[in-house]
Amino acid sequence: MKMFKEMEVYAKEKNIPIMQLDGINYLCNYIKENNIKKILEIGSAIGYSAICMASVNDDIEVTTIERDKDRYEVALSNIRKFKLDKRIRVINEDAINCEIEGLFDLIFIDASKGHNIDFFQKYKNNLEDKGVIITDNLSFHGLVEDESLIKTKNQRGLVNKIKKYIDFLDNNKEFTTKYILVGDKISISYRNNN
Ligand code: SAH
Ligand code: MG
Repeated sequence: MKMFKEMEVYAKEKNIPIMQLDGINYLCNYIKENNIKKILEIGSAIGYSAICMASVNDDIEVTTIERDKDRYEVALSNIRKFKLDKRIRVINEDAINCEIEGLFDLIFIDASKGHNIDFFQKYKNNLEDKGVIITDNLSFHGLVEDESLIKTKNQRGLVNKIKKYIDFLDNNKEFTTKYILVGDKISISYRNNN
């Protein structure tokens, strides 16, 4: 669809890390197959993934949080273009401090890589019993698996934080996690005993 393509081109030009095609396709399929209706997203950027997820079915509702004011504005405008403003709510706040009411079937974490544990711990309180938490960018362009690719201190710091997150997931008593090698690698975490 033309409008999706326009967002993809815009993101590429402005260096905004929206989901890769196979990753977003996997996510949308997952939403369809598991009949997911209420979604909370951490990290809207320009609204691309929120729009894709909301487009899976017309009874899906997305709440998405973006701290950057300019991206928030672009997200709002894109969402209006797709006539999805009744079903996608964008919140312009830092997700670390934001209070969200209600329960969701899916929580999609795709924001600052260093805060994944904080986001997970905070927002699992907003997860339905049978809900799942999906996190993006666990490979960080391959740097997590092949550390010889790390060029900067900043990258080293992020890789360490992603590894810590993976460790946190692997040792979590409350959730079981599986990893899917699509896009930049995602994790899917389910509550045990469900
Ligand atoms: N999910 C989007 C891409 C998100 S990119 C898509 O696939 O289309 C990550 C976004 O998270 C960036 O726009 C960044 O500004 C935002 N972000 C990072 N840390 C955040 C935080 N603590 N709270 C809210 N947004 C955050
Ligand atoms: Mg991402």
